[in-house]
Amino acid sequence: MRVRFAPSPTGALHIGGARTALFNWLLARHAGGELVLRIEDTDAERSTPENVEQILDALQWLELDWDEGPILQSARAGRHREALQALLDAGHAYRSNATAEDVKEYKRLHGADRGFRGEPESAGAVRLHVPADGATVVHDLIRGETRFEHVHLDDPVIARADGSVLYNFAVAIDDLDAGITHVVRGEDHLSNTPKQLLVLEAARDAGIDRSEDGRQTPLPLYAHLPLLHGPDGKKLSKRHGAASVQELRDAGYLPEAVRNYLALLGWGAGDDATVMSTEELIERFTLERVSRNPARFDETKLRWLNGRYIRGMPLGELTRRIERFTGREGLQDAVRISQEKIHTLADFWPLAGSLIDGPVEDPSARERWLTGDGRAALADARAALAGAASFDEAGVGEALAAVVEGRAVKPREVYQPLRVAITGSTVSPGIFESIALLGREETLRRIDRALAGD
Ligand code: GLU
Repeated sequence: MRVRFAPSPTGALHIGGARTALFNWLLARHAGGELVLRIEDTDAERSTPENVEQILDALQWLELDWDEGPILQSARAGRHREALQALLDAGHAYRSNATAEDVKEYKRLHGADRGFRGEPESAGAVRLHVPADGATVVHDLIRGETRFEHVHLDDPVIARADGSVLYNFAVAIDDLDAGITHVVRGEDHLSNTPKQLLVLEAARDAGIDRSEDGRQTPLPLYAHLPLLHGPDGKKLSKRHGAASVQELRDAGYLPEAVRNYLALLGWGAGDDATVMSTEELIERFTLERVSRNPARFDETKLRWLNGRYIRGMPLGELTRRIERFTGREGLQDAVRISQEKIHTLADFWPLAGSLIDGPVEDPSARERWLTGDGRAALADARAALAGAASFDEAGVGEALAAVVEGRAVKPREVYQPLRVAITGSTVSPGIFESIALLGREETLRRIDRALAGD
């Protein structure tokens, strides 16, 4: 099996493209085959080197590797021209100056459902001769057969008058030359497939397939992946949250969780399994289980799944990732007491950063918790902590439980003022763990500041 991922570098790698890349990668790894990376950069204006970089960067972050390439489509212009000439020479293509107007006129004369056939001319754009009879049948591995009757297909333009080839021609020749066995891509490309198959048939007939042993390269098989929708059932777009791989990374998702989640967009193992390691995905992934129905990208589910991965990760590894994400060091203790409470790497700092950098400013939290009874509870808590026999989590817990009991209040009447005193806000990891982490001296210092009102 040889598959390819063929992004057009017109911007960041979006979730749909990442899903296509992942499915191809899983297929190749499952079958022990190869994944070819081809950059379809023929739109010179939009295909900037920065955009190419962005795509490579996104694939690297997702840890999807490839076996060949990146092949730049633009670098293959010579080969494309040569293939075009071979089709012209073999009579499978012809030059024509027919305009859109001429095509319209043709349909007015022959019927609207009649495919346009041009008259060969000595110059002009190049059109492919669609055979007069028969049909091109796309045997889609996911969607079944779609038949395209030739009589309805226009002779497609495959190159401009200057000999530069158009998209469907370049893709077909590139797939042929790379020996691609399975073309797996988004459903939006289904309508291109008959044109590409017709180019491939003509290319084979013109004898330009390049297999070295002289045998004909078999035509690739096709599989079109279901569309992606947002949770509201509409086509996936920016308003559904993070739309590109870079945004997912910046939002603190883990690549392994993203791979797991993307794999479930249109595919399932058949037993409702949701949390699957990459090894398991490779083991279980087959095209037979890809659905035809649109899949829903729901960031809440990704967040949930990411939280599962975070909780299942060894502490040292999670610390390493959070330190890289935040650009800070020495976070292990704070990570340990936050691991159960965060869903993404980005959740860590807002939760626990104040334990490291000092309390944040949140006047409304102070207003709510550090006046009246709250202040009195804080003073009691200070005294208890100052006298606690030990200052580990258990010792802190014991000392504070006595305060709650002594004041005969609900625990939060003591813990919230304390939390605001040590972090500035009402969010933090567990209060005993947080206090134990700060240590007695720092905790008392922070409480004293809060009591002094600065
Ligand atoms: N370059 C096309 C895209 O980014 C994909 C072409 C293909 O997979 O055949 O949408």
